[in-house]
Amino acid sequence: MAEPAVSAIDGVYANTQTTAGRNDNNNNTNPDALITSPDHDHPANLICSLCRQFYTQGWVTGTGGGTSIKKGEHIFLAPSGVQKELMQPKDLFVMDAKSGEYIRRPEVLKPSACTPLFMAAYTLRDAGCCIHTHSIHAVLVTLLCESLPNLNTDVFEIEQIEQIKGIARGYDVLADEAGEDGKRAVMKKAGNLGYFDRLRIPIIENTAHEEDLRDTLEEAIKQWPDAHAVLVRRHGIYVWGRDVAQAKTQCESLDYIFQLAVEMHKLGLPWTKN
Ligand SMILES: [Zn+2]
Repeated sequence: MAEPAVSAIDGVYANTQTTAGRNDNNNNTNPDALITSPDHDHPANLICSLCRQFYTQGWVTGTGGGTSIKKGEHIFLAPSGVQKELMQPKDLFVMDAKSGEYIRRPEVLKPSACTPLFMAAYTLRDAGCCIHTHSIHAVLVTLLCESLPNLNTDVFEIEQIEQIKGIARGYDVLADEAGEDGKRAVMKKAGNLGYFDRLRIPIIENTAHEEDLRDTLEEAIKQWPDAHAVLVRRHGIYVWGRDVAQAKTQCESLDYIFQLAVEMHKLGLPWTKN
């Protein structure tokens, strides 16, 4: 669903003048206005605060991992090679969602290698936020699925755990009938998984270079239409949501579930009933 926030962002911050950044579109917009705001909920500020939080949680140690937010027609992307806890709005790339061109890019930084993976969630799932972590618990469950003969190697499965309710069941769909106002934009809420549902997270194999994961990630998204996350074996996880809140809470719920699953395995407890 289209969001009106872009005009609000541009309108509020168009007068802000800073010096860094380059505009590949050669238009008259100051690209730094896109990432300059006193609002804590502005995507540029949110990405920095999320990266600091994820660093503290051990999810994005070193330069690994990344976060991106789509707001209206703009996609905000954390750069490559910047320590996550030190990231500042001036370090961020901003892409035009329709053209795929960068409308703001820092002079001395490179776009994140995660970018093609984030784009898969934006284009195939209409996501509003994507998070990539190198969580130890996520990596461990992919290793367990690979090594234990009674488990599927290409999907993590667990059921009857309360925290499963923190994961969305599927996707909102447009109703096929006109609403009372004659518009077709009637949203039906898919809701979250229930306690007795089975959570399934597909697992893809890692590659030498992060950007080379794109094809298999896209295949997994298509093969698992209800999934809001894809695990990468011996690497980490990509999680997305319709907005920052959903992506973040699902990332947290999944990491809790993965940590629990590892502890259950240590105790010889199965993840599913059969
Ligand atoms: Zn990674």
